[in-house]
Formats: sequence, structure tokens, C-alpha cells
Amino acid sequence: MGNFAMMDVASIQAGLRAKEFTAREVAEDALARVAVADAQVHAFLETCPDLAFAAADRVDAAIAAGDLAKAGTLAGIPVAFKDNMNLVGTHTTCASHMLENYVSPYTATCVKRIIDQGGIPLGKLNMDEFAFGSSTENSAFGRTCNPWDLGRVPGGSSGGSAAAVAAGMCTMTLGSDTGGSIRQPGSFCGVVAVKPTYGVVSRYGVVAFGSSLDQVGPFTRNVRDAALSLNALAGRDVLDCTSQDVTTDFTAALDQDVKGMRIGVVREFMDAAGLTSEVKAKIQEALDKLEEAGAELVEVALPNVHAAISAYYVIAPCEAFSNLARFDSVRYGFCDEGHHDLGGQYEASRSGGFGVEARRRIMLGSYLLSSGVYTKYYYPAQQVRTLITQDYQKAFEQVDCIIAPAAPNVAFKFGEISDPATMYLSDMYTISINIAGNGGMSMPIGLGADSGMPVGAQIITPAFKDENMIRAAAALERIYGTAPIAPAFAEGGAC
Ligand code: GLN
Repeated sequence: MGNFAMMDVASIQAGLRAKEFTAREVAEDALARVAVADAQVHAFLETCPDLAFAAADRVDAAIAAGDLAKAGTLAGIPVAFKDNMNLVGTHTTCASHMLENYVSPYTATCVKRIIDQGGIPLGKLNMDEFAFGSSTENSAFGRTCNPWDLGRVPGGSSGGSAAAVAAGMCTMTLGSDTGGSIRQPGSFCGVVAVKPTYGVVSRYGVVAFGSSLDQVGPFTRNVRDAALSLNALAGRDVLDCTSQDVTTDFTAALDQDVKGMRIGVVREFMDAAGLTSEVKAKIQEALDKLEEAGAELVEVALPNVHAAISAYYVIAPCEAFSNLARFDSVRYGFCDEGHHDLGGQYEASRSGGFGVEARRRIMLGSYLLSSGVYTKYYYPAQQVRTLITQDYQKAFEQVDCIIAPAAPNVAFKFGEISDPATMYLSDMYTISINIAGNGGMSMPIGLGADSGMPVGAQIITPAFKDENMIRAAAALERIYGTAPIAPAFAEGGAC
């Protein structure tokens, strides 16, 4: 095997340009690798060889015509997509029985933009059902394993997207992040994971969870590939009225020195109860190394950030409840037939199609939006949202970015966290960024001293200054190196 999916964008394109291999060979090899490695990881819910070969042949035709550049900036790269993103002709299940048989009649803008740039789509990736969760244990189709330790979770909800990159099955994947679902699995699996500012990437064709919070972003093993992915993804899409006209070249930030960059450190984050000592030590080490490299560390305050999780678990279920109302067993999804009345059909279909966590969120959202209750919870939650947004705005008057943990702990073992309230704390460092709409990413900074599992540093930027996180991430990459493939899956490993 050529193990092309273990390579980065630059190496694949150099090989294609030198005619050492073809895009078709990349596609064949990557799919063969998925067949082997995914028997252990279970990151994929479906592969799509026909679409992969068609995309590869387009790239090879461009090369034969003498112009690889015409095939796009991601030409010949094995990619895959979280299963809440539509790709025409594939199933889009959201890892739910509700959509088990749903085949996409169209393609999401984010997916289209990656394929238009020559990406080779290998398939669709596992997730927590409808993106509700932090461990991918809520998938209706089995759990995904963390490639660093198959007994541990990959994080969630984009666990399949993070694991596929960490195990060297894809050069790049896409995930979605409503409260941390890109950054937390990125941290758990030791890969580069970016949640852009809300509005940078179109949400058209991505099954909605929390429409005011959802954002799509890439997983890669190096910062340059993440920047290339953002270049392809970012920008206005008339099909999503919240998408913005972003034309930044994110690769321009890669070579900017970190010297003189003002990096915020948040006491409320570093001193939080629940932060494990091994993660805290790694984040402190990364901050020290950035200071040595010439960055200026500035302490900033986010006085209302402690209320973020409470506000999120009001706002997000309310939005989810509204968005999931469309799964009525008539137009989409699972239908429990044999009922003579519509009410009975609704009830049986929604009870049978949705898993436990989805039903919990629907019931919570339904209650929170009911008359009398609405003003008691939803309204104050939105006020808290404004306060948190203002906290970040104030902090960013002093600094170019903030560095914090991406998650309070490293990947935990399957079944270790069983009560939902504790699981919700997994996102204590990521949720406030969705609430405020800023950009955030997780950058691998080595392994925790106690567990030997990957730790991610979160870089948070002002809204629409996502290039700042690429600049800081590139500095961290110069210190810590590019993200390694999980040892058991690296060349010469078990796979
Ligand atoms: N873990 C959080 C939740 O369950 C965030 C999920 C996400 O970002 N999609 O809501």
C-alpha cells in the first residue's frame, strides 16, 4: 500500500505532479486502507467508491491535460464527511435510526466546495446521533474507537471525523461544532481541529442541530492543510443567509512569526475545578514555550463564562427541538406504520426513531419553550449569551487570541461517564465560543504525563479573525511538530 491517506496535501500533490502515482491509485489505496484500519476504529458509516473514483478521474484528466492546478487546491486528497452533511447519492443518517434509509438528493455547500477543489470523497463518518454528545457513544450504529487507545472514546460528536484523520485513513475530514464537537474530539485524538467563526462556512445541507450555534470545520494533521481547507470552505453562499463574504487567504498567516502576538490567558479557565492536572500542565507548558518564542502573555477576564454551559443547555435544546420537528414520519425518516390515527403514528415513529439523548433534548426544548416557562429560562439564557459575547469583545480589545484547554481531560474510557450532566461538562472550555460566535481550534501539543493520551490547546480568536488562530497554531506546530498518526496505525504498526 502507498498509504497515501497518511500523507499531507503538499506531499500528495508533489507526487501527482511528478507522476509518481495517479489520483485513481490514491483513491484505491485509501479505500483499501479504510477497509483494514476501520475494522478496528469504526469511523466510517459508509464508503462511496463510485464517487471517489469519479473525483479521482477528474483530477487525473486535469493532470493529463497538463494542469494539476486546474483540478483544485485539494486535488487528489482523500477526504470524508461527518454523516450530518449531505452528499448526493450517499446516506445521510446523522447516526440515527430516524434517517437510516435517507439518501441525500443534493450536496451540502461545504462538501461541494471540498470536492470542487479536487478532494476525493471516501465516505461518511460516525457521530453522536444528530450531534448530541461528546463521545460518539450516542451513535445508533455502534461506537467509534480512539485510535490512540481502542478502549477509549474519540470524543464527540464528530468522533468519526477526528478518528479517521488520527488513524491515517483520510488527509482531511469535515465535522460540525455546536458546542465543542470539532475541538473536543480533535483534542482527544491529537489532530488539528478548527471551528471557524459563526458565518465563515455555509451551513446549507448540514442537518441543523442549533442553527445559531452550528459551524462546520476541518480536521487535518497539519496547520497548512487546515488553512487550505478553510480557504476552500469560507465565503458567502446565497443558500445560507448567515454565511459571510470571507475572502481571507488563511495560508498567509502560516509564516507570520508569533513574536509580538498578544495571547490571552483566562484565570477562570486555568483555575476551573474539573481541569485535570495533566492537561493543565501541558497548557501551561505551551504558554511558556510561546512566551519564549516571543509572544506576550496577557491575563484577561471572562467574568460571565461560568454561566455558558447553563445558557447552552437552554438555547441548544430549544433550537434542536424546533429543528427536529421536521422528522414527522410523513416527509422524512422512520415511520412506524400500522397506526390509524396521525397522532399515534407521530408518537410511535418519533419514539422509535430517536435515541435516548435525542428524546431528552426534544423533551427539554419542548418544555423550555412552553408558555410560562419560556420567560423563566430561554429569555435569561439569551441575556447571558449577550454578556458572554461582550466579555469576549472586551478581552479581544487587549489580545489577538486566547489560549485555553480544549477539554478538561484526555479521552476517557468507554462507559466511564454515564450520567448526562457530567458528559455535558466535557465542553466546559468550548461552549462559550459557540455562544459568542468566535473562532476556536484545538491544536495537538503532545501527550498527557499520566495517561499518555493526546492533549489539545484551544486557540480562540475574535469573530472573523480566524487567521489569528492559524498564526498561533503554526507557532505551536513549530514547537511540537505536526500531529502524528496514532502509533498502532502508523506505518509498520498493527495495521
Ligand atoms: N457535546 C455538546 C452537546 O452534546 C456539543 C455537541 C456539538 O457540538 N455538536 O450538545
